[in-house]
Amino acid sequence: MSSDLDLNVYITEGRIEGADDGPLAGRTVAVKDNISTAGVRTTCGSEMLADYVPPYDATVVERLKEAGATVSGKTNMDEFGMGTTTETSAFGPTRNPVDPERVPGGSSGGSAAAVAAGAADLALGSDTGGSVRCPAAFCGVVGIKPTYGLVSRYGLVAYANSLEQIGPLAPTVREAAALLDVVAGPDERDATTRFGASDAGPDRHPAETTTYADAADGDVDGLTVGVCRELFDGADERVVETVESAVERLADAGATVETVSLPSVETAVQAYYVIATSEASSNLARFDGVRYGQSGGHDGDWNESFAESRSSFGPEVKRRILLGTFALSAGYQDRYYRKAQDARAWVRRDFDEAFDEVDVVASPTMPVLPFEAGETLDDPLAMYLADANTTPVNLANLPAISVPAGTADGLPVGLQLVGPRFGEQTVIRAASAVE
Ligand code: GLN
Repeated sequence: MSSDLDLNVYITEGRIEGADDGPLAGRTVAVKDNISTAGVRTTCGSEMLADYVPPYDATVVERLKEAGATVSGKTNMDEFGMGTTTETSAFGPTRNPVDPERVPGGSSGGSAAAVAAGAADLALGSDTGGSVRCPAAFCGVVGIKPTYGLVSRYGLVAYANSLEQIGPLAPTVREAAALLDVVAGPDERDATTRFGASDAGPDRHPAETTTYADAADGDVDGLTVGVCRELFDGADERVVETVESAVERLADAGATVETVSLPSVETAVQAYYVIATSEASSNLARFDGVRYGQSGGHDGDWNESFAESRSSFGPEVKRRILLGTFALSAGYQDRYYRKAQDARAWVRRDFDEAFDEVDVVASPTMPVLPFEAGETLDDPLAMYLADANTTPVNLANLPAISVPAGTADGLPVGLQLVGPRFGEQTVIRAASAVE
């Protein structure tokens, strides 16, 4: 394993000390560089924000400090979270600690690599379409994408707000769940941390009555696991075999294994890229050199200045702004955006129906083994298609975990377990039986 310097895990290294005691005292947490840290620059992996220093902490960072954690640094990421390899960063690619010739996955590749290489005990990433689960799978660690509304997004620089959540990465399921315990909960500064959204009662947020770490007890007696065939179709055979053996381990531990069909998931990645780029085209409008971002200069000529400022975005970000702007333009909305919303509703319904039959839905996290460095840079479509299994979960706003299933040709493979809304305990319990 290489040192973290070779791996390019951090964009900004440096300790931010937390309280003297608390549940994370003595633990280091690496934080993705799209999560705001007061006084410490937060670049989103972009030249655009290379000098941006936020005046405030994200709610999750406040909670880390209160819990006694030490933030070890701000981790490398695909620019604005747009990517699956951590190669679209303006700060150079991160390498995979398991095999430095391979990518760590993305977009939270720095966070996953930090945990896998021991550069931090734990990490936070953000997951818009798989960015916590993908790098967890590629680096052989655990990653949780929480139910939409479980964790505050206050201070997370938005890529596609209706899809994303901040989530924990850790070496084990229990540690990931314990980090979730610290960051989850209502926040009056984020209305999507929906009060009264669960069985917890009319005014309670589900995290207020739950200790997620306690669910990592390996007890899957009576649990029904639904194997989603559509999410195995087309996956690399080595991935399929490794994931199937992990599902067998669940059966050996006492779970019932069934097959479930979710036909809608085959539309998910297309719908995701329309919705995510549409939201991004609007969110990234604030980077114009006046409100945020590099100044464009050109005294008095607004168009020149705006164009100059926007030229500091990298090629993947520009591609997505163009795609999203096109999808939302007059005359095309019905053809793309509205259709994508219909697909999103269908995916949500399919999962709802599946959860009438089963407790968790199982699949490979990624249909492929970690890419070789550079492999997808000239082939964005290949990169987008690798998100086929993770994006349905964001469209449906559900909780999911990626847990190491084993290795194939020496490379890590992740098992994805998806649960019903606010069913974090169920996926944590099931995942802990796989370890
Ligand atoms: N790979 C996906 C994308 O590029 C997911 C990114 C993410 O979750 N931030 O959009």
